[in-house]
Amino acid sequence: MLSFEDARAKVIEVMGARACAPARMTATETIDISPDPSKALGRILAEDILADRNYPPFNRSIRDGFALRAGDAAVPGARLRLTGESRAGFAFNGSIGEGECVRILTGAPLPKGANAVLMHEYTHLEGDFVVLEQAAYPGQHYVLAGAEARVGEVVISRGTRLGYAELAMAAEVGRGRLQASCRPRVAILSTGDELIGLGDKPGPFQIRNSNSISLAAQVASAGGEPVLVGNARDEVCELRARIEHALRADVLVLSGGVSAGRYDLVETVLQNLGAEILFDAVAIRPGKPVVFGWCCGKPVFGLPGNPVSTMVTFELFTSPAIEALSGYDPQPLPLFKAKLAHPVAEKGTVAHFLPARVSWPSGETGGDPKVKALLWEGSGDIGAVVRANCFLVVHASRLQLEAGEWVDVFPRRGKL
Ligand code: AMP
Ligand code: MG
Repeated sequence: MLSFEDARAKVIEVMGARACAPARMTATETIDISPDPSKALGRILAEDILADRNYPPFNRSIRDGFALRAGDAAVPGARLRLTGESRAGFAFNGSIGEGECVRILTGAPLPKGANAVLMHEYTHLEGDFVVLEQAAYPGQHYVLAGAEARVGEVVISRGTRLGYAELAMAAEVGRGRLQASCRPRVAILSTGDELIGLGDKPGPFQIRNSNSISLAAQVASAGGEPVLVGNARDEVCELRARIEHALRADVLVLSGGVSAGRYDLVETVLQNLGAEILFDAVAIRPGKPVVFGWCCGKPVFGLPGNPVSTMVTFELFTSPAIEALSGYDPQPLPLFKAKLAHPVAEKGTVAHFLPARVSWPSGETGGDPKVKALLWEGSGDIGAVVRANCFLVVHASRLQLEAGEWVDVFPRRGKL
């Protein structure tokens, strides 16, 4: 059985080799970032964005104070004649001569002749003169024109995921419209005779289809466009027909029906359709029976139906496939270390992803993050994940851990 690391690497390798060629993947669309930039948030840039001019476009003061010639202010106590003002949007129209200074405000252009700004806190006025209480050095408190970016320079590279800073940069350089990769369409097909829709009244043994909802949300956060294609009963003909229909999307994600029970038909039906099964088990709990295959030219994921298993296996294995299809280089798992708050003793031979909470000591001085696994009732317990902000990763190679050990933590997307 593959380790979760190897299974994830397999997905990334196969996607890179096979999936990143179809026309749809390279298709791009234009997105307006104004007036509503939220449409662009999280999208993958399909072009390089260039600086339209130097940034800053002029030598820009970063303090309120006085622009001066540093040579006039080499020692404290100098008196300089105040000859004008430069403020944001309005430059001082002249240049600074020897023994002169100009009042300057943050964001204002540095006047000609000046090569330093002294903060007003270190000055006082005496009539038309400014007395400097501190020396100034050349280059102090302003940013040189072009120091942040030169005209024509790439300021955001193709393949970058657009966040608030990237959108601000696009706005700064005057790019109200951006080319982004089209989001891959991800069909979500649940399976199970016991499942009903959200609006239906459950019978005593029926279960609402929550996986289609969590999967749709996860698909959207991974950069895909979720397409809910309903639920298939645990019956070969119906399942086959629904899978064939769903394969019109770029990726198919199924939930349920992948264990070894007599009503678990997903793998069989995929095989009947000629699918190549790349793996059908991964050494993790929750989520051991997880299928990754290739069917009719499309990647297919058969995720186990227990809701927490569905969530965890999606994050580990499906999400990098969606990233790859949306033009984003799949990233390594964002694990970080925290100190375990209590001993852990897991059984078996597989890695465990336990719903957990990580916290940092409060206060300015910081300190080590601490992680605590939550009580839970196993992989059907959605509430445990609601209470969690991460998963504690207990590797198969070390299932017994002591309090105070540094352990791996897998953040819950959007919660940390
Ligand atoms: P399965 O993987 O089909 O054996 O399902 C395992 C468990 O997950 C069963 O208790 C199912 O009722 C539950 N389950 C399967 N699919 C869903 C779903 N779409 N939403 C909520 N629970 C589900
Ligand atoms: Mg089932």
